[in-house]
Amino acid sequence: MSDHYERVKIELQQMKEVENEAAADEEQLPPASVSPIPADVSFTARRDLSKSSINGRSRSKSRSKADGRERQVNGKQLPYLTPQKSDYSQGQSRVSDEPNLHIKGTAKLLKGKTAANGHVESCQRQTDGKCEHHGKEAKKRRAVTVDTSKAKTSLEALKMSIRQLKWKEFPMGRRTACDIYWHGVSFHDNENIISGQVNKFPGMIEMLRKINLSRAVRTMQELFPEEYNFYPRSWILPEEYQLFSTQIRLLKDNDSTLKPTFIVKPDSGSQGDGIYLIRDPADLRVISGSPIKQSVVQEYIQKPLLIDKLKFDIRLYVLVRSLEPLEIYIAKEGLSRFCTEPYQEPSQKNLSHVFMHLTNYSLNVHSGNFVHSDSCSTGSKRTFSSVLYRLASKGVDIKKADIPPGKPGPTCFQILGFDILLMKNLKPVLLEVNANPSMRIEHEQEVSPGVFEYVPSPVDEEVKVGVIRDTLRLMDPTQRKQHVTSSTGGGSPEEAIVVETGSDEKEGLADSLPSLCLKQVFPKYTKQFNYLRVVERIATIFLRFLGVKGTMRLGPTSFRTFIRNCKLSNSSFSMASVDILYIDITRRWAGMLPDSREAGMCLQAFIEAFFYLAARRFKALLLREQVLLLLEVCEGALEAQSHSEKPRPHRSHTNPASSQSSAPTTFSSPALTRRRHRPMQLSAKANTEN
Ligand code: ADP
Repeated sequence: MSDHYERVKIELQQMKEVENEAAADEEQLPPASVSPIPADVSFTARRDLSKSSINGRSRSKSRSKADGRERQVNGKQLPYLTPQKSDYSQGQSRVSDEPNLHIKGTAKLLKGKTAANGHVESCQRQTDGKCEHHGKEAKKRRAVTVDTSKAKTSLEALKMSIRQLKWKEFPMGRRTACDIYWHGVSFHDNENIISGQVNKFPGMIEMLRKINLSRAVRTMQELFPEEYNFYPRSWILPEEYQLFSTQIRLLKDNDSTLKPTFIVKPDSGSQGDGIYLIRDPADLRVISGSPIKQSVVQEYIQKPLLIDKLKFDIRLYVLVRSLEPLEIYIAKEGLSRFCTEPYQEPSQKNLSHVFMHLTNYSLNVHSGNFVHSDSCSTGSKRTFSSVLYRLASKGVDIKKADIPPGKPGPTCFQILGFDILLMKNLKPVLLEVNANPSMRIEHEQEVSPGVFEYVPSPVDEEVKVGVIRDTLRLMDPTQRKQHVTSSTGGGSPEEAIVVETGSDEKEGLADSLPSLCLKQVFPKYTKQFNYLRVVERIATIFLRFLGVKGTMRLGPTSFRTFIRNCKLSNSSFSMASVDILYIDITRRWAGMLPDSREAGMCLQAFIEAFFYLAARRFKALLLREQVLLLLEVCEGALEAQSHSEKPRPHRSHTNPASSQSSAPTTFSSPALTRRRHRPMQLSAKANTEN
């Protein structure tokens, strides 16, 4: 065994010591504080369970031998950056000496930090010392049915989850309706599903494409610059090429020592495809040679946090359980994906080193240095909690890294994948959000030269099966009512989950199911976050004026009606100006979304128009305050109007945008609420333009 594995053994030993400390700490807690999140997380326990769940399947522990220089792998084109085999070998020291690590108390931090997805916990629900799962009153429930015919690469993890839950799988689909439909890629509203729950929202893929995400974050940054400073500065290409060039030129002119680097990402790319680094806007044209593709160019984070001298990123799974009302969970466990070549700050020489700068698994797996490991805390793909343990054991303060009615149809939910990079100072930076995070629990391995096979990946299984299984538990139709009652009543969502009981077998199952690895963040933290939900209120107004069912664009007449009904025109803002505003903004957005087939004003364009109207009406205030005041004007006018009118029927609840229509009504930021109490200009009618 190499030095490398010896060191890993020592590290594991150290981790266990830290865990034991945490567990010992936990044991001292009084029984009343029993948490649904297991505090005595132990790698051993989780590994054992993970092993037992893949009974009979062979485990592999090897390094990929794929040639890192290969540009075509299984028909897939590697990006422009050229993979470089590095000298980095297993024999190199794994103890990095990042200078910014400070020792702070860790045991407490570790408590409950990780969700042992495979961790066996007996009963979670205890009432007066009696376990509810085993109560005689327990009702017999029918098995929940899941259509897995379209699960694609998530099939294996899904099957395991269904087996653990003792639910019923329909791998070829079913003539009668299923409770849950699991789609590997996407779901189109026109598919013949009229009931149940589907694990994808129509339109989510489009919404999360790189350009749309950048635009959405930018809108939020305009309103809440401090809250949304977790996203790197970005420009949309080709439309903002001039802006990008000018801003960078000015920056460099002001400070000649600045040597920024930028990362260019094609709009529709994924898995690192087509990504490259540049040091100057002029390089864009040189590299592409042809007209610049639709892409996002982003400030490159030059000083990421390193472990073992390697750059890594974090994949966190987020479940949007429902849009209306908004309900969001975060998986307590995630993945850390490591580069396979030691990191150096970007220089002209290393700019094209894929394995140094990009953390994508799909790329690094083809490096000769990729380490497949059975352990969750070593290798090139690890659990996020093991990385936290590792950082904690080095003294890093890991706390800093925390981070309707309508036509008949199913309701939707979706698991999203958030990719996050930690900067050297531990500040998390959002890189992207994946509508379809890979749920594959096998990895590709070259078993003999040129022959690739999928072999089980324990790290993926550990994390992903937990996420899918617990998503299913949260979506369990037989539990749904209880859950809603419980969570709206302020109870912990974890408490709302009652495992099926009724037969001995199922009682056994109740014992063996781990506590939920998904933690509710919304509505649990409504108070902290509701004030940010301003755009949803604008979307509600947009939807109200959309009119024709099925369209997502506002026509000129509807825009006029919006202005009129909200009483936004006056002597200095005539209806002619309204038309000009509509044409101006709609035309510009049509140019920015060239592939769109629909004519009219899209939601993003409407938001821009709304911001314009707000700034025009309430001068000399922060944009956020202007927008909130205009919202009050509009909502007030519309409410008064709806008293005299019958409310319009809601649109289909499978439509994500329409689902936003019931955004809460109290969004004001604390600061603004405070100011509004003052009888001064900030009342909606005061400080208007004339
Ligand atoms: P893709 O969808 O193609 O994976 P990402 O936006 O996730 O695109 O970028 C791929 C990888 O590039 C990330 O996993 C990360 O390692 C690196 N990366 C992306 N954006 C940045 C950035 N702004 N700064 C530093 N590294 C980045």
